[in-house]
Amino acid sequence: MTVPYILIVDDDPSLLQALPEALRLRLGEVNVETFDSGTAALERIATAEFDAIISDIKMPGMDGLTLLARIKELQPATPALLITGHGDHELAVQALRGGAFDFVQKPIEREYFIASLQRAVQMRQLSRQVAEQQAALSRHAETLEQTVLERTRELMEVNRAKDELIAERDRALAEARHAMQAQSAARRYVEGLAVQLKQQATELTTIIEAIPDAVYVYDRAGAIIRTNASGEALAGLPHDRSLQTIEAYMQINDSRYLNGTPMLPADNPLMRALQGETHMNARYLLRRFDTGEDIQVSVSCAPLRDEEGAIIGAVAVASDTTKLFQLERQKEEFLSIASHELKTPLTTIKAMTQMTRRALEREQRPIAANLARVERAIVRMEKLVNDLVDSSRIEVGKLALRMELCDLRDICQQVIGDFSMTTDRPLNFVSLAETLELEADCDRIGQVIANLISNALKYSPEDCPITVKVERDGAEVVVSVHDDGAGIPPEEQGQIFERFYRAPHTEIHSGSEVGLGLGLHICREIVVRHHGRIWVKSAAGEGTTFFVALPAAVPADQVTVSPARHLQQQ
Ligand code: ADP
Repeated sequence: MTVPYILIVDDDPSLLQALPEALRLRLGEVNVETFDSGTAALERIATAEFDAIISDIKMPGMDGLTLLARIKELQPATPALLITGHGDHELAVQALRGGAFDFVQKPIEREYFIASLQRAVQMRQLSRQVAEQQAALSRHAETLEQTVLERTRELMEVNRAKDELIAERDRALAEARHAMQAQSAARRYVEGLAVQLKQQATELTTIIEAIPDAVYVYDRAGAIIRTNASGEALAGLPHDRSLQTIEAYMQINDSRYLNGTPMLPADNPLMRALQGETHMNARYLLRRFDTGEDIQVSVSCAPLRDEEGAIIGAVAVASDTTKLFQLERQKEEFLSIASHELKTPLTTIKAMTQMTRRALEREQRPIAANLARVERAIVRMEKLVNDLVDSSRIEVGKLALRMELCDLRDICQQVIGDFSMTTDRPLNFVSLAETLELEADCDRIGQVIANLISNALKYSPEDCPITVKVERDGAEVVVSVHDDGAGIPPEEQGQIFERFYRAPHTEIHSGSEVGLGLGLHICREIVVRHHGRIWVKSAAGEGTTFFVALPAAVPADQVTVSPARHLQQQ
């Protein structure tokens, strides 16, 4: 039991003194507060909690019953013992009804009083303990509830996390299943592709191997990544050396230009294909790796590009043209010899025929007319032979020019004059300049103009006039020959200057149908040798105009370089 805390109220001072003494004597340690009025005691009761309150019933001012009522309001759990007068049962009953713990009659019987007080204090302290324990219990219960709530919440969270984990795992499993399905589908696809690729590669290899020409495929860096048996055979390469870089390949094979000088690597068509250029039928010499023999090859190559157009390599197709080259040379030799051999007897025949015709004409023999026809045929043959001779000379680079200062107008007039003697067709001459001097081989330029006029006569109707026009255009003198024939289709225009090319379906209106397709080729070579240009403008229904532009002679007072410039360049 803790130290009892007792409040005593009595208006009797002797009792107020004696009771605490008695309590201390009987109870030992005890705290006692005393008040002589109900009002003073009540003030104290409002601020402190006592284990028991002892009050006299009869007191001046506030009596004990009133105080008891207030105590029940302020400290309902504090037991109150009321002291009544002797035999005053009525008051004692009122006190018990008002909630007093006990009542003690005066004169106070000490044993009873102390025993009752002890019970009251014990009860109060026990009930306080009970209250404290209840409070502790309810606090504990609250803590427990809190803990349970927290644990429940934690549990719920853990549960939720577990559910999420499970859902996550299920999702991951589904994804993994899906990925595995996709992977196996992709694997099947890739395997299918691999089979296809293998088939295609086999097909490609078979095709490349079957190509009779040599095939070389290069990567971006210029290494040969594929070739065929013809490719190895062409260069005489052993199989184990066929795949290498172009540089290494060129070192082994020693490429040369047709004239025998070593080829610059930058000029090599294969290198240029890797730079994006396409080359058709580039011809050069190749020294074979195995025999050391020089062969002539014709190489076509082109860059290989990816879908974006970036160069990823190159492909080349080559063939050994040595035999073809020899045949061409033999053909050239044959043409050259044949034409030269024909030229001399033809000149003799022409001269003899002319002499005979004149003699017969003098005798006025009708047969002279026949000889005139023979003569015209000889002239045509002479032109063919001359064309062959010129063409051969051009091929071997032996077309000689005798450069001199001449006037384009004079050359044209001369040629037109010659034609006027052999044809009735109107030949108009238009000159838009007073002089048109140029440094040229007059005969060769005359030959060009004659050829153009001859073609105009040949390929336009009999009644159509031909117009030859000369003019100056800046630093050039220009001659044009116009006819009103059917014209040359655009697709033919690029080819008519090629050697031996004759446009199909061209209607010939006058002269011989015989032609070799050499005339325009010779014209172009002569013009190019004069550093000039030749071109054609032609449209269906508007006739044809051939143009030749040649560098005009530089007036003496403006000469800054040697006038023999062209001659030096021959
Ligand atoms: P050839 O006259 O011997 O056939 P050319 O080299 O002189 O050879 O001419 C080549 C071709 O160009 C001719 O076959 C002809 O088809 C065409 N050609 C040349 N000139 C004319 C022209 N004035 N009008 C129409 N076609 C022409």
